[in-house]
Amino acid sequence: MDPSHSPGRRRTRGSATRLECVERRLEAAEIRLERLQNTLDGLARSSGVSIGCPCNRCGRSYVLIEGGRIRCPECRFSQSV
Ligand SMILES: [Zn+2]
Repeated sequence: MDPSHSPGRRRTRGSATRLECVERRLEAAEIRLERLQNTLDGLARSSGVSIGCPCNRCGRSYVLIEGGRIRCPECRFSQSV
């Protein structure tokens, strides 16, 4: 991250515009993330799957717990509980 964009520094017109752009994108990403989280929670509940902790192996997905097994949908890691 560019340290010249950190809060507290005097903003030039250009950097304020960039900051506003970043803020808008961050806000949109947060809304999208929350929406996906809610969808995922609903999907997991309706299909009897629990969402566990982040995968220790790849870190790119949460593990799914189903029928006494933990599995990662991303790296295919699988292990009994
Ligand atoms: Zn994984």
